Amino acid sequence: MQRPHIAVHKFSSCDGCQLAFLNAGEDLLELAQLVDIRHFLEAGIADEYAQVDIAFVEGSISTSEELTRIQRVRANSRFVVTLGACATAGGLQALRNLDDSNEAWKHAVYAQPEFIQTLDQAEPVSAHIEVDFELWGCPVNGQQVLAAVQQLLFGVTPLDPRDKVCMECKRQHAVCVMVTEGRPCMGPVTRTGCGALCPRFGRDCYACFGPAENLNTDAMSQRLQGLGLPPSDIARRFLFINSHAPAFHAAGRPFYREGFADD
Ligand code: SF4
Ligand code: SF4
Repeated sequence: MQRPHIAVHKFSSCDGCQLAFLNAGEDLLELAQLVDIRHFLEAGIADEYAQVDIAFVEGSISTSEELTRIQRVRANSRFVVTLGACATAGGLQALRNLDDSNEAWKHAVYAQPEFIQTLDQAEPVSAHIEVDFELWGCPVNGQQVLAAVQQLLFGVTPLDPRDKVCMECKRQHAVCVMVTEGRPCMGPVTRTGCGALCPRFGRDCYACFGPAENLNTDAMSQRLQGLGLPPSDIARRFLFINSHAPAFHAAGRPFYREGFADD
């Protein structure tokens, strides 16, 4: 029986999710037995026009070339799955959307900005094409990828864990760093999927897996204020990696205006 074909496409991103995919160890070996990988540049496999059953997309859509290419990926793929924060919520690149500062950044960063061609905004893949499933995280982990592939190939909608990192802390018996150390942990509003990685190592969550379901950003904001964070730091907590995710955008935007008004 022919194995299903998959592709991994890169757009504006750091390649970290592709590397997480490659570093998945036994999960990757298991995946390689299930599927035929047709395009995955980080793994040295190139056929970007391949027609596939599942296309994973890493990175935000930031240039007109990417806009054309993502439409081709959609046309050539049965399922499109976003891979990580950039593809799912714009990633760090979307920070420039906050105050339409694209041109200012180009001139501040590049010696010859006239050679830099970008769209006005860096946006999630779902802003441009229909997406079948989104994998959050910066980066994703191999178990998430393998589970999504297996479930899609079995013809079921992949499980989408949306409960909060705090729930995972309880399951993992991790000591709460907010309660015991007063750290500004974003676990109460962040979706799980990482296994409460940061709290298990004694540090606060910085929300790289994006918004959880039924999140209370007002209470979270009040708690961060209660811990003494100024508006600019509260803005950074909500807007750091997933600034285009609507719940985090809405929560962080007022603090961004207040905290960076004089910048
Ligand atoms: S450490 Fe953070 S994620 Fe874990 S229970 Fe406390 S607030 Fe929640
Ligand atoms: S604990 Fe938070 S910041 Fe750390 S990996 Fe998990 S979601 Fe990301």
